[in-house]
Amino acid sequence: MQDRTYTEDAEPGDEVTVAGWVHEIRDLGGIAFLILRDTTGKIQIKFEKDEMDDDLVETGLDVARESVIRVTGDVEEEPRAPTGVEVTPESLEVVSEADPELPLDPSGKVDADLSTRLDNRTLDLRKEEVQAVFEIRAEILRAVREQFREFRCTEINTPKIVATGTEGGTELFPITYFGEEAFMNQSPQLFKQLIAGSNVERVFEIGPIFRAEEHNTPRHLNEATSIDFEGAFCDAHDAMDVAEGIVKAAYEAVNENCSEELEALDLEEEFEVPEGDFLRISYEEAIERINATGELDEQLVWGDDLPTEAEKALGQDVGGHYFITEWPSEIKPFYIKDTEDDETLSTGFDLMHPRMELVSGGQREHRHEHLIEGFEQQGLDPDQFEYYTKMFKYGMPPHAGFGLGGERLIMTLLGLDNIREAVLFPRDRQRLSP
Ligand code: ATP
Ligand code: MG
Repeated sequence: MQDRTYTEDAEPGDEVTVAGWVHEIRDLGGIAFLILRDTTGKIQIKFEKDEMDDDLVETGLDVARESVIRVTGDVEEEPRAPTGVEVTPESLEVVSEADPELPLDPSGKVDADLSTRLDNRTLDLRKEEVQAVFEIRAEILRAVREQFREFRCTEINTPKIVATGTEGGTELFPITYFGEEAFMNQSPQLFKQLIAGSNVERVFEIGPIFRAEEHNTPRHLNEATSIDFEGAFCDAHDAMDVAEGIVKAAYEAVNENCSEELEALDLEEEFEVPEGDFLRISYEEAIERINATGELDEQLVWGDDLPTEAEKALGQDVGGHYFITEWPSEIKPFYIKDTEDDETLSTGFDLMHPRMELVSGGQREHRHEHLIEGFEQQGLDPDQFEYYTKMFKYGMPPHAGFGLGGERLIMTLLGLDNIREAVLFPRDRQRLSP
């Protein structure tokens, strides 16, 4: 490509070629301004009609908004321009013309509903505040990877086409695999455990999980990004330390490296890095506190899963991130280990944001015979999982880990109303394309 200067790098005194989209044209009569936008920002192009070539003026001012243009000219200081500089064009080329009828207005003057935005993501991402969400998403994933490396973890990638589910049969997406039934993976759970039991010991994975969720909700996707950890010789508290470290690293990175994006989202005042240790409360204490809030129509009893209203009531009561530990064994999956002294209590934990669950984790059952019993208790056929259980016969260390919902982390960190805003092309019950 031809030499091209980003708008933010255009300095007074330079001769530059800038390229980007026509954001706006303001025609004031004798003088007109075209605002050109690229990934770094916007720049003003000035047309003094009497002093310029008629063809140049006409091409520049007749072009439809959102067309792609390339402009060469001198940069001068202009305190009244949005960025303090403007370009006087010597030449202007229309690289790709836009249809004047746009399905969505990238200048943001006309609001679009989420569905229209998702149908036209290319146009939607031309908005500064939408681009900011995905710049922040990229920064969070970068920081999370770096933090895992500091925690001595190795990044792994495990299969997404699998023979069996792990998190309950109803949420599985079946597919046909060379004439045989297979599934899209709900979680890398079993694979990451198999690698934690190798010499690699501490692993993480950032990858897709697929869940045929029964309902469309603002916090469920059918394809989500899971941030997973598994570590040998770890117990539940070690895994909680890692989860807390990862979440805090994400907040700290955004705080340090995303001030422009936070500003674009109008969050520069509001955004706060969580301070102090995350509270760790037991499931028993959690239901007592929820019942004491009086927010629920019916009191919770031991063994209940926490409904959404209960999570919200407790979240308001606590007022920050917190862990719920020692869940009843019967409502946690088969691979979670029970506590030492009480087999009705599990080592399972959840990390909660005041608005919703972010993480589930726990210490894993590493004793072969107990694992097989767990399968049977949950009505699963251990033979189907032989590829997994047999490795527990060859020296499986105690281990623990968690899965953190990537989009839930982004959504809660930025206060987004709908999880779909944290994904470029979300998958839900109605949405399979784009
Ligand atoms: P929930 O009860 O909120 O539906 P879950 O307990 O079924 O979640 P887990 O199996 O514990 O989910 O998965 C671990 C994490 O992955 C969750 O805490 C959540 O952050 C994320 N997650 C799970 N399912 C989804 C989904 N459908 N969409 C987005 N994120 C999800
Ligand atoms: Mg969970």
